[in-house]
Amino acid sequence: MGKVSIALRGWRFDETEVFDDDGELRPLEEVSEETRRRLVRLRVVAGEPCNVCYLLNGSKSDCNVARIVYGEPLGEVLLCPDHEPEFLYWYREAGGSDHRGEERFADIFHEWFAEGNRAPEGYGGLDHVDTEPDRVPSPDIDGDVPELEEAIEELDDEDLDALGTDYSSVT
Ligand SMILES: [Zn+2]
Repeated sequence: MGKVSIALRGWRFDETEVFDDDGELRPLEEVSEETRRRLVRLRVVAGEPCNVCYLLNGSKSDCNVARIVYGEPLGEVLLCPDHEPEFLYWYREAGGSDHRGEERFADIFHEWFAEGNRAPEGYGGLDHVDTEPDRVPSPDIDGDVPELEEAIEELDDEDLDALGTDYSSVT
């Protein structure tokens, strides 16, 4: 069973859960609640700037678009490839992994970085914290994700609201 990333690298989905035999995204009603929450959140965060760029620049227009997402929906960290090592260092070496799953996960990383902490020069960012190999190529990450858009549009607003409110009670 393969794991795939959609739109951004980092969050991984069970290929057979999110895609049907024709490679189309399944309707959101058919996937688990956790998967649905991530898919809906991806639509919001895809195209947003890298958090670290934003901390450094303070202006969205000067930031790289994030290509990587870590953490949980609503507490996610968005990163460009240049800044992934900062996150990986924090997560692995500076106590970040202790906060895994916490609502303030992203805030704690932002605070750490804002205090002037940095990964050492040359810290390797190439190996992903999830060690499971990518066996299936991700759908095109540079463009939109039309199937995802479509699936989300098919959900009515009430469903989306329910997802939003459900989430706060889950965390
Ligand atoms: Zn960046």
